[in-house]
Amino acid sequence: MRIDLHTHSSVSDGTDRPAALVHRAHEAGLDVVAITDHDTAESWAEAERAAAEVGITLVRGMEISTRLGHASVHLLAYLPDPTYPPLARALADILDGRNDRVPAICAKLQARGVQVTEHDVRRRAGDAAATGRPHVADAMIAAGVVATREEAFATWLNPGRPAYIDRYAVPLEEAIGLVAGAGGVSVVAHPWGRSRVLTPDHLERLAGLGLAGIEVDHQDHSGAVRAELRGLAEDLDLVPTGSSDHHGLGKVDHDLGCNTTPPEQLERLLQRAGDAAAASRRATPALLVP
Ligand code: AMP
Ligand code: FE
Ligand code: FE
Ligand code: ZN
Repeated sequence: MRIDLHTHSSVSDGTDRPAALVHRAHEAGLDVVAITDHDTAESWAEAERAAAEVGITLVRGMEISTRLGHASVHLLAYLPDPTYPPLARALADILDGRNDRVPAICAKLQARGVQVTEHDVRRRAGDAAATGRPHVADAMIAAGVVATREEAFATWLNPGRPAYIDRYAVPLEEAIGLVAGAGGVSVVAHPWGRSRVLTPDHLERLAGLGLAGIEVDHQDHSGAVRAELRGLAEDLDLVPTGSSDHHGLGKVDHDLGCNTTPPEQLERLLQRAGDAAAASRRATPALLVP
């Protein structure tokens, strides 16, 4: 059983349509794939149809933009009911923040002589529900300003760089509550990846609030970091997951299935999702089994 629990389609900042992503997951030899676009469930319907076609198990997920103090934390949510009003409102607020930021980033770029317009960015984003800095980066690549998304972030778009603009994100503890209220489970994405915001003490407190797991096997984690996180997961009774964080052509070295989650860990996660669904009395979207 090969299980990849974190992938992005062009509904957020990946480059494949949801259906194409599911087909590729099947071709890559995966048995189970989760689709986890940023802050939206918009990709689910198309992905479900494709999963039924090719015979792969789809886990419906999303990656929620949250905040701990001033720092950004990505929270993977599996099987939440996206129509649960408090969650739906939070997601709408985040998407509004994403949209409002685009003209502000463009203004900063233009002030520095980089001629990238909001229209250019919207064209790159296509019909994405969640627009993001990667789409700004794509417009900058098309304009010949930078060669890669990586370069765009390092030179212009990261915090501290000239075209950085902050945006709204849900307080982390609140987000864990929203996911549980929606009958789903949450897993902190790449906790010690690009930045190391969460301490072991934070994780212990979050586990007490209902956090179900932490992403351990991720390309942004070295071997030593993975070993440390695995130990922490065991101490705190959190489910350790592994995944690619695939973004199509939008991220190099994140091929589908490059990290995977052991079947027994997925079982634990689904068990907890079942408990959350029962406690919330919400109709949790079922796992699609061919
Ligand atoms: P945003 O959603 O606008 O906050 O942008 C963050 C997204 O950009 C993340 O989800 C990553 O997929 C992507 N990203 C962040 N840093 C980089 C980087 N250095 N190179 C390429 N993509 C990045
Ligand atoms: Fe992303
Ligand atoms: Fe992330
Ligand atoms: Zn991701």
